[in-house]
Amino acid sequence: MSDFTIGCHLSCSKGYANMAREAASIGANTFQFFTRNPRGGKAKDIDPADVEAYVELARDAGIATILAHAPYTLNPAAAKDDTRDFAVSTLADDLARMEATPHQLYNMHPGSHVGQGADVGIEKIADALNQVLEPGQTTTLLLETMAGKGSEVGATFEELAAVIERVDLSERMGVCLDTCHVWEAGYDIVGDLDGVLEEFDRVVGLDRLRAIHLNDSKNPIGAHKDRHEVIGGGHIGLDALAAVTAHPALRHLPFFLETPHDKVAEYGEEIASLRAARAALL
Ligand code: FE
Ligand code: FE
Ligand code: ZN
Repeated sequence: MSDFTIGCHLSCSKGYANMAREAASIGANTFQFFTRNPRGGKAKDIDPADVEAYVELARDAGIATILAHAPYTLNPAAAKDDTRDFAVSTLADDLARMEATPHQLYNMHPGSHVGQGADVGIEKIADALNQVLEPGQTTTLLLETMAGKGSEVGATFEELAAVIERVDLSERMGVCLDTCHVWEAGYDIVGDLDGVLEEFDRVVGLDRLRAIHLNDSKNPIGAHKDRHEVIGGGHIGLDALAAVTAHPALRHLPFFLETPHDKVAEYGEEIASLRAARAALL
């Protein structure tokens, strides 16, 4: 079952090598982490010795792909210049730091238009990305599909496509599909996963899809609230989520659990049950 790339969100506070150890300890072969405090404080300096130790541990654990997550408070679509400037400088700093682990994935929430309208938001997000993406970088920057809470941009595939097509270095851009978010945005991944993926392919292109956030949802379809639930404990359910991991268009992608657990070991149990459920479908 080593063709299944699955992991969970881990705390970055003890460094890369520790995250590789934690991932290995729960049967994961990838992981997600915040690049800094999720509220957007200053990042800790990267320790080259930590990265060196990480590379060896990752090799032993079969970890090839990892996903960094931008602070969720960044808003490159903001109305205020200083909020947008902060988003641009943080994104630029994060992308520079990502080169310590080259050729990996960096995920961000597109932003919220805060009443300016989605069209203005889309222009501002693309403008920010055009300021931070540089030709020498090796990281793929992913826009996350959003639930549509408040004035979030990116709750429709059309909005994500509109941002990507305005980015000059668009070959560096991809999408991270969050199962809780698309469900709450109104895409029926339970009743019609094929149809949702066909729509994604038509609007964005399945070649842009580079990662999956695998979460159940506390809410019914279309709720626009963004409340994650443990796998099998919510309105999406284990069967539909296992089907996502086994789908021919998705099964090669890395999957990341962002389910509400207090202990890392609980993710291990979720990973084991998903491995079994996926294997039964293949
Ligand atoms: Fe996210
Ligand atoms: Fe997510
Ligand atoms: Zn979420």
